[in-house]
Amino acid sequence: MTTTERKIRALAASKAPACVGIDLAGVEHRETGVAVLREGRLELLTSASTDAEILRLAALAGRRGTVAVNAPLTRPLGRCCLDDDCPCRRDPGTRSRQLERELARMRVPTLATALIKVLARRGERIAAALRESGCTPLEVYPFATLKLLGLPWRGKRTAEGRRDIHRALRPLVPGLRRPDASEHQLDAVVCALTAQLHRLKLTRTVGLPGEGLMTIPDLDRLILEYHPAPSGRGVQAVWKRRRRPR
Ligand SMILES: [Zn+2]
Repeated sequence: MTTTERKIRALAASKAPACVGIDLAGVEHRETGVAVLREGRLELLTSASTDAEILRLAALAGRRGTVAVNAPLTRPLGRCCLDDDCPCRRDPGTRSRQLERELARMRVPTLATALIKVLARRGERIAAALRESGCTPLEVYPFATLKLLGLPWRGKRTAEGRRDIHRALRPLVPGLRRPDASEHQLDAVVCALTAQLHRLKLTRTVGLPGEGLMTIPDLDRLILEYHPAPSGRGVQAVWKRRRRPR
């Protein structure tokens, strides 16, 4: 049995709620990153390919846990599908969702749902399977989380860029010691971190309830502080709640 498989079985055997972050790939032959945090600590960082593998890892959240997925999980209002030649497509206005337009106004650019339709179709499928199993997934966007928290987000395609993001995430994610992590694994860590912020009630949503919501850090509520780590080496991030929203 591999170390990863041993960790998966140990997590599955425990009943404590966990945060599972999934950086979903559009197709099975591309890497989907998966991260599992328990009580804020990174317990598993791995990759998956098939829907079945992804759903097995998502189940590690447990009945009371939280699953956060980086992919569109819903379609623009009024669309029956994302096909370009369907009458449900009317331009302008039916390619993106309100949440994408709100993020653009916050200077967090995204791609419109209809422009990433392969990923969006898989996102919808995974979300439906998760709901079937009794878990309502959160839609998240690692780029938005990193940017809003003031963390580095550039250059994750290069080893140097990934090292910068890894270094910035370490104080926020105890147990993260994977400088070799792929860009999808790092994104999965940020998805799981966003799920954890959601559990701490330090997030808000953008979008329309009847269309689709995305969960992002709520800068009116949270303060991110850095303190010396208890080990005496490096720093540790501490989340605090603002007494009064700004
Ligand atoms: Zn249609």
